[in-house]
Amino acid sequence: MSILVVVETQDNEYKKSAYDAVAYAADLAKKLSKSVTTFVLGEVANPETIGNYGSEKVFIAENWDEKKDIVLTITQMISEEKIETVVFAKSPVSETLAARISVKTQSYLATNICSIPELSGSIIKIKKSIYTGKGFIVEELHSGLNILVIKKNILQAQLSDKLAQKQVIKLAEGKTSKLVSKGITKATGDILLTDAQIVVSGGRGMKGPENWALIEDLAKTLGAATGCSKPVSDMDWRPHHEHVGQTGVKVAPTLYIAAGISGAIQHLAGVNSSKFILVINKDPEAPFFKAADYGVVGDLFEVLPKLNALLKSA
Ligand SMILES: Cc1cc2nc3c(=O)[nH]c(=O)nc-3n(C[C@H](O)[C@H](O)[C@H](O)COP(=O)(O)OP(=O)(O)OC[C@H]3O[C@@H](n4cnc5c(N)ncnc54)[C@H](O)[C@@H]3O)c2cc1C
Repeated sequence: MSILVVVETQDNEYKKSAYDAVAYAADLAKKLSKSVTTFVLGEVANPETIGNYGSEKVFIAENWDEKKDIVLTITQMISEEKIETVVFAKSPVSETLAARISVKTQSYLATNICSIPELSGSIIKIKKSIYTGKGFIVEELHSGLNILVIKKNILQAQLSDKLAQKQVIKLAEGKTSKLVSKGITKATGDILLTDAQIVVSGGRGMKGPENWALIEDLAKTLGAATGCSKPVSDMDWRPHHEHVGQTGVKVAPTLYIAAGISGAIQHLAGVNSSKFILVINKDPEAPFFKAADYGVVGDLFEVLPKLNALLKSA
């Protein structure tokens, strides 16, 4: 019996969320004395390295084409490998897949899981965030197949130098789902906001679009994506796809830098999965400071160039 983790790739590498999902599964497997198997959606160089995060086996497939049926492939894998739990990392692709597999296997689906599973006797308790991160709910898992979709940055992976045992599998052919595209079209910029490890975001405190070079320069130095608050995109200072929050993009970077953003609850709903938050605001009473790990009380027009220069020299 083992836990199956279905992971995504990008540019021939594992997405960061893949490591999060495998680390989560490894934690659960340790508590239940089970093992972890990973199935890679797409192609990846050095698939065995997922073993560093706690996966014993890794299934990879070749010849991805439009005749292949991913849902059927995974459901067959669940039955052949006697899988009791399937773990996905939250993303548009994985959430859709998880829902379809749940329907096909008539299994329980839990999304938005926001902390490591707890074991009380033989009962597994999971914590899910609800109301766009403003609350949470604890549920007990039933026996039988459970499909779990986890949020990013839940736990710090325990790394080892172990490698996973690689197995090449054949994808099932069928009609229920077809891979029609392997590419990603990015709206603008080099780094996708939802996948970014670092996000530099600006709010109304930036005063106008003409000042955005400050955000872009810092983002370039850090290899970060750029974001903004809702009023900023409403005023067309920035494109709408950069708007972060309850009604915009939900981000989950390792570091979220917010400059001139007050920290309204609707904005926080889009950033509360960030591992660390750095707030730059001239108002020491700005609500964002309550959600921040680090804060700079100061004028962003002084702080941003200084921070950028410091990082460049470092
Ligand atoms: C239904 C609904 C949904 C919403 N959804 C979203 C959403 O998804 N995302 C979102 O962002 N908002 C959303 N909002 C809007 C939200 O309530 C806030 O109005 C908005 O987030 C405020 O944007 P802001 O922080 O950029 O601007 P402000 O609230 O005007 O804050 C500007 C901040 O900049 C600081 N500042 C000014 N000058 C400087 C300077 N020189 N140096 C440093 N700091 C400075 C100020 O102290 C202030 O804290 C929603 C609102 C509603 C009603």
